[in-house]
Amino acid sequence: MSRTQPLYELQQVDIESEHVSRRLKEIAASLGDSTELNRARKMVGGAESRLAKLRAQMHNLDLEVSGLSQKIETNEQHLYSGRVTNPKELGNLQDEVASLKRWREKKEEDLLEAMVATEEAEAALVDAQAILLQVSETWQGRQADLVDEQARLQTRLEELGIQRASLRAKVGPQDLTTYQRLRQQKAGLAVAAVKEGICQGCRMNPPSSQVQHARSGNELVFCNNCGRILHVI
Ligand SMILES: [Zn+2]
Repeated sequence: MSRTQPLYELQQVDIESEHVSRRLKEIAASLGDSTELNRARKMVGGAESRLAKLRAQMHNLDLEVSGLSQKIETNEQHLYSGRVTNPKELGNLQDEVASLKRWREKKEEDLLEAMVATEEAEAALVDAQAILLQVSETWQGRQADLVDEQARLQTRLEELGIQRASLRAKVGPQDLTTYQRLRQQKAGLAVAAVKEGICQGCRMNPPSSQVQHARSGNELVFCNNCGRILHVI
């Protein structure tokens, strides 16, 4: 095996490991995130409390209208009983009945408004519940997918760890130091494959003598242009 082969393979393993680790971090963040679900729950909570408030308001108005009707009935019975003969008292009683009727009319209008608002709030609650159900199903499905992906990637990361250990054992300590330094300097790409005479690190053509030299694999040859270790494949 050439000197660059294990380095080239090590780089592939390192790149994949980094990619997997990044994705695992994203998954960990997404698994804890229930922002969307909480928003949908809040909407249902809001719709429920609005409906409860309107129902209570409706109930109170209903009681008020019944109470007023009872009062009106009592006063009218009194008025038409023939027991009130004093004209002033009769006049007062008539005024009071008229005033109570006006008040009841106002309350009946309020009740009607509250009924319409309640119906709207009921519909809004049904909508919010449907949205919550949908969001919740989607969320659960996505969470399950993420858990599966997480397990798969953790297994893959373990495999890559074993591969890395085995490859590092095949690389000399000096080459390993060079590789690590270049990876830091060259955006993670220390070893550049040479395909059809072109360095895949910088897309330039290294001189053919250099490619020839790299092909023998006895020592590390660096690209004249980008400074990466050339690995002829
Ligand atoms: Zn290059």
